[in-house]
Parts: sequence; structure tokens; C-alpha cells
Amino acid sequence: MSPASDAGALLVNNSWRSRLYGKLSLELTAARNRDEQLALLVVNLVKFRQINADFGYAVGDKVLAEVYRRIANALRESDFLYHLGNDEYAVILTQLRVPQAPELAIKKILKQIGENMAIDRQVLSVSATAGAAVFPEHASDSDELLKAANAAMLYAREQQAGYIIYDATTRTEDIRQAELKGSLRTALDSGELMLHYQPQLNLQQGILCGCEALARWQHTEMGWISPELFIGVAERASMIDSLTYWSINVALREWFQFCTTSEAASVSVNLSAQLLHSPELVPMVEHAVNIWGAKPGSLVLEVTESAMMIDPRAALRTLHQLHEMGIKLSIDDFGTGYSSLTYLKKLPVSELKIDKSFILHMAEQQQDRRIVQSVIDLAHTLDMVVVAEGIENEQILNMLVAMGCDYGQGFFIARPMPAAELHVWARSSVWDMPEEVLSKLSCEA
Ligand code: C2E
Ligand code: MG
Ligand code: MG
Repeated sequence: MSPASDAGALLVNNSWRSRLYGKLSLELTAARNRDEQLALLVVNLVKFRQINADFGYAVGDKVLAEVYRRIANALRESDFLYHLGNDEYAVILTQLRVPQAPELAIKKILKQIGENMAIDRQVLSVSATAGAAVFPEHASDSDELLKAANAAMLYAREQQAGYIIYDATTRTEDIRQAELKGSLRTALDSGELMLHYQPQLNLQQGILCGCEALARWQHTEMGWISPELFIGVAERASMIDSLTYWSINVALREWFQFCTTSEAASVSVNLSAQLLHSPELVPMVEHAVNIWGAKPGSLVLEVTESAMMIDPRAALRTLHQLHEMGIKLSIDDFGTGYSSLTYLKKLPVSELKIDKSFILHMAEQQQDRRIVQSVIDLAHTLDMVVVAEGIENEQILNMLVAMGCDYGQGFFIARPMPAAELHVWARSSVWDMPEEVLSKLSCEA
């Protein structure tokens, strides 16, 4: 038996989402009125790209059509099937009579898809992953239901579990992580991910000396996602290599467009702990510096103390290689980790960045002031410069100047901003700009 269809044909176009939403809303209203349950399934083919790569797009398209036919065969008249584009399908199961109905339907669908396919005289084997969410148990509207079903599908894919029914009580966080993981993959390509730049001042001269590049992700549905959250997701999804490669390249390109040449100021990029132990890191940095013709000394890589402590020997090796290339290294969030002075002495690092937790309350907390002064003295003793982060007001800025702190960044100077806004900020800023920036600004005027 074939499912009812609101369009009578395969729906593969950009309007799939609105078609699906439209139908879902109607069916949700009906289910609500009839006091019935409804389920939404999302089905995704496993490694479909490989089929395209191995057999060509013509075969790939036939596979997609055959999968559609097989899913349709597994459904009842009262169900609705949509091809969401690429290798993804959605099914609305209405008039559910038993709680096991979504699971039974999924099993049937996956079994049908999994049977060998003869296409263009070739026998292909295809498999799929599915996720399901049920109204009203897991969600009360179309948007939430689709999110939940999609999240369950992504979680199933991550767990290689075949299928998973959304379970709001036990796996919400895992599912959210899996969902983020799935969308982070596309975010890099689709431009959802960007860098914001927070200017850094030479505090003793009041002049712009560089900036820190901070990753930002505006998810189409979830809004802004904190870098601390998505960097963790990228690490667990083995995507931190590509994310960092992307950051270094974008930072060098955008910052040096702003500064005209690489002489005036440096750009700092944060390195994840995991990358310090990756053989990819050094060639990756070398490649990016070569592509953009940047002076190696104008790129600063920030590493946290705790990152180095995971495997100090390996970290030391990597840091030495970067140092030999001329890259500057900075210890981020200094004071929050456990680096010993013996270890610190061995590091080819030229900058200590005092963690903002010591700076934010310096004005009121004498102890913080003492710690900050000790870090400044320690850094200078080791021939390093000090950067203070988290300067939120003028009083703190003045204190740091008096204490001999070399560089600083914070909301009082400027918040992190997109590259395009740097020009506007530089024009109206009360701080001095290096010659290169000034000449760039006057050229643009
Ligand atoms: P971080 O490297 O220590 O970055 C400084 C953080 O302090 C940034 O938060 C910045 O927005 C914030 N900040 C700057 N000035 C002030 C201030 O005056 N007051 C307060 N309260 N905060 C201030 P953000 O952008 O949320 O980044 C958080 C952390 O995420 C970063 O800490 C860094 O560890 C990580 N991160 C950000 N971008 C990247 C990236 O591209 N790669 C990697 N691996 N990590 C990144
Ligand atoms: Mg940092
Ligand atoms: Mg920091």
C-alpha cells in the first residue's frame, strides 16, 4: 500500500521545508482535535556521497528514487512521505494506534532500504539511519517536532545505532551535542561561522597593536552558540583541525586586509588543546602563513596552560617547531592552570595572557591586584610580554598601565567585532592607530 501524498510526487526542491511544515501543522491540528498521537521520522542514507563518488550522479539519483519508492511501500495510506533533498527523507505517521507504531514503521523502512538494489546492472547495498519524535510526548509544534526528530537521527548516526526515538528525559544533552555536531559540519561551508576581532592595545603607548580572533557561530535555528560549546563539539567530532585551519586562514586574510600589510600588528588565534598533539598542526600553520604571505611573527597562537599539561613533552615539541618557524606563542588564561615554573622556563613562549578572572575585579580585590603584579613581574623576568584580558573599565586600564602591563584587551577598549566593523571602530576610536591603519583609513575616505 502506498502512503497518501499531498503532492502526489517526489518532493525535491527548496520548498520541501515549507511543504513539510504546512502538512505537519495541518496534521498536528487534526491529531490534537482527535486526541491522537503523531510521529515524525527523519531518515538519512549512510555514506550516500560514496555512492555518487563510486558510481556517478546518475546512479545516485536512481538510488534516491528507489529509496523513496521503498519507504513509500513500507507506509500506510494515512502516512506522508517527503524527500527533503540530498539523501534525507521525512515521514509523518498519523493516526497512531499503539505506542510502538513509530518503531515498527522505522524497522520496516530500514529493512526495505537495506535490501540489495539492482541499478543499471549493478547490485548496490544501501543503508539508512533514522530518528523519530512523537507528538505530544516530545514536542507540541512542527518546529520542535522536526528539531527533535532530526536530533534523534543525528544522535543515531553518531552512535551508529540504526535508529533512535527521541527521549527528552534521558538524552537531551547528548542529542543537542549530536545535533550541533551535524550542523557544525555544514556551518563551516555555509558561512554561518565567522571570526570576530577584539582589538588589543599597547597599554604603555595607547596604540593599537593587534587583535584576538574569536570564532562566532550563528546557528540558523538556535541563534548564537558560545565558542566554548562548539569548540568542544568540534574537538569531539574530530573537526577541530579543519576549524582551526579555517580560523588561521580567515584571520590572516581579514586582519591583514584591515592593516594593509603584516608589519603593523599581529593577529592572535586560539589553539585547541587537542591540536597541540596533532601532526597536522605545524604543516597547516606553515601552509596558511605561506598562502597569505604573512610574516610568521605577525601570527600569535594562544595555547592554554591546561592544554600543554595534557602531554607536556608532545606540546613542547610542537611549540618548538612553531617557534622555529617564527610563529609567536602565547599562554592563554594564565593563572588558571598548573604550569610549573620549571616547565614555563623551557617553553618557547613570548607572551603570558593573564586570565580575565584576575582582571575583572582588580579594582576591589587587593589579592587580584597582587596576583596580576606578580604575573607581570614573572613574565618580565622570563623575557616575556604580558597581555591583560577582560579590561572592562578605565580604572582597571589605568591600574594596569601603572603596574607595567604591556598589552591589554577588554570591553572598555572594544568588544569583539566583525572584520567589516573594524574600520568604523578605528575611525572613531580614541586610541591611536598605527601608521598603516591611518593611511588605509585616509585612502578609503
Ligand atoms: P579566550 O581565548 O580567553 O578569549 C577571551 C574571551 O573573553 C572571549 O570570549 C572574549 O569575548 C571575552 N572578553 C573579552 N573582553 C572581555 C571583557 O572585558 N569582559 C568579559 N567578561 N569578557 C571579555 P569568547 O569569545 O566567548 O571566547 C571564549 C573562549 O572560547 C576563548 O577564550 C577561547 O578559549 C575559545 N575560543 C574562541 N574562539 C576560538 C577559536 O577560534 N578556536 C579555539 N580553539 N578556541 C576559541
Ligand atoms: Mg584567547
Ligand atoms: Mg583567555
